[in-house]
Amino acid sequence: QGYALSDGPSAPAAPASQPAPLVQPWPTAGAIGAEERGLLQSGDGIYVVDAHGRQLIDGPAGMWCVNVGHRNAALADAMRDQAMALSYNSPWYTTSQPSDALAEALAARAPGDLNHVFFTTGGSSAVETALRLMQFANNVRGRTEKKLMVSRQGGYHGSTYLAASLNGRPRDQDWMDGAGSLVRKLTSPDPFRRPAGMSMAAFEDFLVEEFRALIAAEGADRIGAFVAEPIQASGGVIVPPEGYLKRMRALCAENDILFIADEVVTAFGRLGSIFASQDVFGVEPDMITFAKGVTSGYFPLGGVMVSARFFEVLRQSNHPDAMFAHGLTYSSHPIGCAVALKNLELLEGGILDHVNAVSDHFQQSLKRLEALPLVGEVRGKGLMACVECVADRVSNNPLTLDLEVGKRIDAHCHELGLLVRPLINMCVMSPPLTITREQIDEMADILYRGIAMTMDDLVREGLWKG
Ligand code: PLP
Repeated sequence: QGYALSDGPSAPAAPASQPAPLVQPWPTAGAIGAEERGLLQSGDGIYVVDAHGRQLIDGPAGMWCVNVGHRNAALADAMRDQAMALSYNSPWYTTSQPSDALAEALAARAPGDLNHVFFTTGGSSAVETALRLMQFANNVRGRTEKKLMVSRQGGYHGSTYLAASLNGRPRDQDWMDGAGSLVRKLTSPDPFRRPAGMSMAAFEDFLVEEFRALIAAEGADRIGAFVAEPIQASGGVIVPPEGYLKRMRALCAENDILFIADEVVTAFGRLGSIFASQDVFGVEPDMITFAKGVTSGYFPLGGVMVSARFFEVLRQSNHPDAMFAHGLTYSSHPIGCAVALKNLELLEGGILDHVNAVSDHFQQSLKRLEALPLVGEVRGKGLMACVECVADRVSNNPLTLDLEVGKRIDAHCHELGLLVRPLINMCVMSPPLTITREQIDEMADILYRGIAMTMDDLVREGLWKG
């Protein structure tokens, strides 16, 4: 029958139980447009409530974004007050008090001379903006060949065309087109998957030398930017070797390659700082992209911090009339900026201190899950962590394991009162930053039981030898 429905009898009416005609992110072809995802009806603090009225700890804080927690009255008030004062203004020819104030506040907090900001609608558009700024700048500077973008396996940078072309997680690109000819990918700085027997120091050297060799092979005059999450988030909370980011940054500086830190996840408190590049990793990027936690997910907002140096070069160029033909209707949205300003106040009014106080406890509580034989490694930093399941600890091989194992753990945890973010064979935990020590213990305990129940299932079904 294929596409020919319109030539035949009219399609039957949808049964009453049909899911809403809503297409959610990342569907498979076999389920697209006909998929049901769990309904959440409310949230409060670190908890959400599902359609059955069951209260769940929001383990992933939505998508690493509900940093101050759900149902925050101060953010709701900020949003309402701004909507009643000025609901929108065109950034093409006007500005607003909250966007000016937020730009000043972020410039004062960003490392080094990153004292300008371009606001976007989220993380993908932030990364897209950073990349297009690089292309524009190199055109204006007459370096029209300097456009290659370097990213890493395991990275995630978004779903718009250029940003998505940088993605390096398994399955991200299998069925999608992209600007692949403009992108080169380096090895993920994943210590857990480093070659057997290689020391951390040797692994770090290998990663840096791989980049150096790429620059030599392609030519520094052809590489425009290196884009990296300080900690690869969706790739499985990959914390790189100690000196890696500093050394990659130095290589960029030596070769006039922009170092773009994608802090869409790591900024705004997840690692205990507003921006993590400098505070946590001692690195001063040329640009920082951010989103998510900037408004704690209450309003879609993102942005790129850009250095004064970068703009000065453009202003001094021979092409003062060259147009950066890029902008979004909702760039610098006044409501988003008002929410972000209030969010910043909340983070700095105690939440950052709280994150720094409870992070060790969070990491240690989850680390105990390594006692379970299905768990290959628990790793993380600040209030982000990943529990990676493996078939066996000799090969650390996830592939012989049921790759739906994360979903199985999620299903058990849901019954026990915890929402987890399943990522193939991994569970990512990044709760609202207001989580208390007791709630951390409860979360880790549920996850322990959920994994133990999954192990029983796998053995019973003959999928894992235990
Ligand atoms: N960059 C990173 C590091 C991310 O984790 C994400 C989203 O998860 C993005 C970019 C894309 O952000 P958005 O989904 O807001 O477009």
